[in-house]
Amino acid sequence: MPRINGQRLLDDLKTLRAYGATGNGVVRTSLTDIDIESRNWLAERMKEAGLAVTIDGIGNVIGRSPASGPALLMGSHTDTQPEGGWLDGAMGVIYGLEVARALSEDPKTAGLGVDVASWMDEEGTFGICMGSRSFLGQVPDGEIARAKDVDGRGMAESLAKAGYAGRPRDRLDPKRNPGYLEAHIEQGGHLENSGKRIGVVTAIVGIRTFRLAFEGAQNHAGTTPMPIRKDAGMALVRLAYRIDEAFEAIKGERTVWTMGRIALHPGSHSIVPGFADMFLQFRDPDEGRMERFEAAFRALVAEANAAGPVAISIEPKGEKITPTPMDEALQAHIAAAAEADAPGNWIHMPSGAGHDAMIIGDEIPVSMLFVPSIGGVSHDFSEDTAEDDIILGCQVCADAAARIVRGWKGGG
Ligand SMILES: [Zn+2]
Repeated sequence: MPRINGQRLLDDLKTLRAYGATGNGVVRTSLTDIDIESRNWLAERMKEAGLAVTIDGIGNVIGRSPASGPALLMGSHTDTQPEGGWLDGAMGVIYGLEVARALSEDPKTAGLGVDVASWMDEEGTFGICMGSRSFLGQVPDGEIARAKDVDGRGMAESLAKAGYAGRPRDRLDPKRNPGYLEAHIEQGGHLENSGKRIGVVTAIVGIRTFRLAFEGAQNHAGTTPMPIRKDAGMALVRLAYRIDEAFEAIKGERTVWTMGRIALHPGSHSIVPGFADMFLQFRDPDEGRMERFEAAFRALVAEANAAGPVAISIEPKGEKITPTPMDEALQAHIAAAAEADAPGNWIHMPSGAGHDAMIIGDEIPVSMLFVPSIGGVSHDFSEDTAEDDIILGCQVCADAAARIVRGWKGGG
């Protein structure tokens, strides 16, 4: 099996952190000067590893293996949140680079191809997963022309400034890349709490979010008798409690639901609230269960509307995200590699956060591997992972990559 060079891996990760470093964290939002500098550095490191590199018209950095035949596509993102951690995304990209190097350095695996990608703007500075969606042909030129960040900085202008505008945009070729592996920090505390070091991801959870609005009648809290009130606040509280109870009965092992906002209008101690609203969001790796959650809360809303006196309406918020199952065969290779490198020290688990793998999964089989996040913290400067875990995760990826590409080539 190929051996990765742990020191080289850590050195590259730390060099990449230096682009935008703020203490242990990083500020390297998409297409800022420092992001562009880091992409040019990454492209150079890929070239030194013997990969054929392009930075395409949307800023995706893609290094392709010189090995013939199918290549495993590995990658993630190197842009960060406005206050980001040093490993979120960056780790998966540098894993790809190190795995490509490790495979090419071992004569037994030198013929096995790994292509490496850093997808532009996973963190949503200009839009949703712009780089990976572009790679699947899902981003029309008009979307780039219209895309702006919160400060009004245009994506098209930023690409022109970087010198990337006008270049062709790379497009996935499923024959060359029949599968994708994205390694990532967990960004939660499940691995740490279970005392395991590697997570083999089973699915990226689906997300559904709704706004529930309650129309009652605003009135005096002292003179309005209880029987004639149309109290939007009480209607909200009763329904929220019943939804919580119903979800408790349907929940799976990793279901989460959140009522992230509850607001009463006008919100005063002496006024019966005439209007109330709340956000309800739920996430689960199983689409069938997502359907049951939605049916359950819609039935409770219908029941409450039939009983009156407050009228409740439901409005979906944002896009409905369906769960992305990870490919079973790729999972089996990663699990076998994890068992070889960390016997008994790995688990299967879903991803509660979205990733580029969700997009790439539209066209080819995808897979993900997690390493523990210390304290379950991410999207914060303090985000970190033990160096031993960073190295172990990369070794598992190298072994998994060799197994996967050998399998495609029909070798033993
Ligand atoms: Zn990420």
